[in-house]
Amino acid sequence: MLHGAAVLADPLLNKGTAFSERERDALGLRPLLPPRVFTMDEQVQRTLGAVRRKQDNIEKYIYLTNLQNRNEVLFYRLVIDYIEEMVPLIYTPTVGEACLQYGSIYRRPRGLFISLRERGRIAEMLRLWPHDGVRLIVVTDGERILGLGDLGALGMGIPVGKLSLYTACAGVHPYYTLPITLDVGTDNETLQKGPFYIGINEHRARGAAYDSFIDEFVTSVKTVFPKALLQWEDFGNANAFRLLNKYRRQLPCFNDDIQGTASVALAGILGALQITGGKLADQRILFLGAGEAGTGIADLYTAAARAEGLSEAAARGRCWFVDTKGLVVRGRGDTLAEHKVPYAHDHPFIATLAEAVRVLKPTALIGVSGMAAGFTREIVEAMTAVNDQPIIFALSNPTSKAECTAEQAYTWSRGKAIFACGSPFAPVEYQGRRFVPGQGNNIYIFPGVGLGALSSEAAEVTDEMFLAAAQTLAGLVQPEDLALGRIYPALTKIREVSLQIAAAVAEVAHRSGLARAPRPANILEDIRDRMFQPVYRDFA
Ligand code: NAD
Repeated sequence: MLHGAAVLADPLLNKGTAFSERERDALGLRPLLPPRVFTMDEQVQRTLGAVRRKQDNIEKYIYLTNLQNRNEVLFYRLVIDYIEEMVPLIYTPTVGEACLQYGSIYRRPRGLFISLRERGRIAEMLRLWPHDGVRLIVVTDGERILGLGDLGALGMGIPVGKLSLYTACAGVHPYYTLPITLDVGTDNETLQKGPFYIGINEHRARGAAYDSFIDEFVTSVKTVFPKALLQWEDFGNANAFRLLNKYRRQLPCFNDDIQGTASVALAGILGALQITGGKLADQRILFLGAGEAGTGIADLYTAAARAEGLSEAAARGRCWFVDTKGLVVRGRGDTLAEHKVPYAHDHPFIATLAEAVRVLKPTALIGVSGMAAGFTREIVEAMTAVNDQPIIFALSNPTSKAECTAEQAYTWSRGKAIFACGSPFAPVEYQGRRFVPGQGNNIYIFPGVGLGALSSEAAEVTDEMFLAAAQTLAGLVQPEDLALGRIYPALTKIREVSLQIAAAVAEVAHRSGLARAPRPANILEDIRDRMFQPVYRDFA
C-alpha cells in the first residue's frame, strides 16, 4: 500500500480534499492537505464551476485532462453526472482541436507511444506499461483523425478520449485500459515542420515495412496482454479494412469507424422504421460517400436483412452508393476499391446524387461523405416526393460538414423527414411541432460492445454482435423519443444502454461458442455488478 505523497500522486487512489480525518492519519497525508475535509459532491460542484468558468473548449479540455490525471474517480463522477455537457468536451468535437494542439498542450504522458524506432522491441515496450492485466486497448496510427486527416503522433488524443468514454459510458475500469499510438511517421508536411511536433520526423511507412510493424504489434499484444480486446481507431481507408479483415480472427478486435458506425446507423434505421412501420428488408438505401462508414453500414444492413430472410445478393442490391465520381456501378471505368465492389450494381451510370434520388427512389438517404451541403433542397424535396416519411441521415462530422442541417431537413421535407445527424443539432420548431434530431453517435455502441466482449472474454468480435447491439439500442428508444422524431435514447441513459448492449453481446459470445469466460447465471446482473462506479474507496 502506498503512503504519503505517493498516494496523492496516483490518480486512481487520490481523493484530494475528500480524504477523511482517519484516512489522513492512516496514509500519512495530514500535513500534505489543507485541513478542511470536503465531500465528493462539493468537489464535483467546485470542479464543475471551474470547467464552466473557462472561456473556450480547449481550456475546458485541458482542465478536465488535468483532473483526470490528478483524481480519476472525481473526473468520472463529474463526466457521468454531467454527461451531455462533458462528452463534447472530452471527445468530439473538442478532441479534434485538442489533437491539433496536442504538441503544445501536452502535460503528462498517458498511454504508450510506439514508433518505428522500437521495431523488434514492441513486446518489451508493452511490458513497460505500469499496469498489469490490460484488457482493453484503443490503438491509432493517426492517419485519418476524425475529419482532420493525417495528424501522426498527435492522434493520441483519440485513444485517450475513447477509453475515457468506455469508463464513463460503460463502466470499464480505467486500470485495465491502455491507449496506444503507433507512430509510423506522417505525410503531413506542415506538422513535421512545426517546432513542437511530438512524433518522429519521417514519412509514413507503407507496404511491407508498415505491415510487418503492425504484425509485430499484434503478436506482441497477444503475448503480453493475452486477454486484451483491441480497437482499431482512425486508421486510413487503405489500411482500416485490410487490418480488420486480416486480424479479426486472430484476436478479439474491431474497428469502430467501420463497425461501430454501422451499428449505430442500423439502430437509427430500425428506430425510424418504428415510426414509418416499414420493414428492414424493404428499404432501398442510397449513400453519399463510399468509405469506411458507408460500406460498413451497408455490410451490416446486409447481415440484418439476411436475418429477415433476404438473400445476400438481394440485400446488397438494396444498397446504392454515390461517391466523388458519381453512382458506383459496374463498369464505371475506374478501378473500384475492394470494399465498394459488392455494391457496384449492373445499372446505367448516373453522375449526380439528385439524379440518383430521382431514378432509384430510395427510402433512406445516408450522408457519410464529409461533404457539407451534399443534401440540397432539391434532393430533400425529391426524397419527400417519393416517400411519406423519408429517412434522411446527415452523419458527417463535424457540424460544419453535415450534408444538411436539422432545420433544412425538417423544413424542406415539410416536417416529414426522420432525421439523424452525426454531430449534435438543436431541436427545431416547424409549424408548431417540436423535432429533436437524434444524434447517431458511436458512443451508443462501442462502449457496450467492448464491455460485452470483455466480460465474456470473447475470442472474436463478430458482425452478429454489432447486429445485436443495433437491435438492442433500437429496442431502448421510448415512445416519447419517437414522438419527438428522436430515434435514439437520451444520452443521459447511456450507462443503462451500454449495459443492455453488453449483455446482448455477451449472450451472442456464449451462444456462438466464442466466450472464454464461464457463462454466469445472469449475464446482465453479472456485468452490472462489475461496472466501475465513480465512488471513492474507504482507506481507513
Ligand atoms: P472515408 O474517408 O472512409 O469515406 C468518405 C467517402 O466519401 C469516400 O468514399 C469519398 O469518395 C466520399 N466523398 C468525399 N467527398 C465526396 C463528395 N463531394 N461527393 C460524394 N462522395 C464524396 O470516411 P468515413 O470514415 O466513411 O467517414 C465519412 C464521414 O462520416 C465523416 O464525415 C465522418 O465524420 C462521418 N462519420 C460519422 C459517424 C457517426 O455519426 N456516428 C461515424 C463515422 C463517420
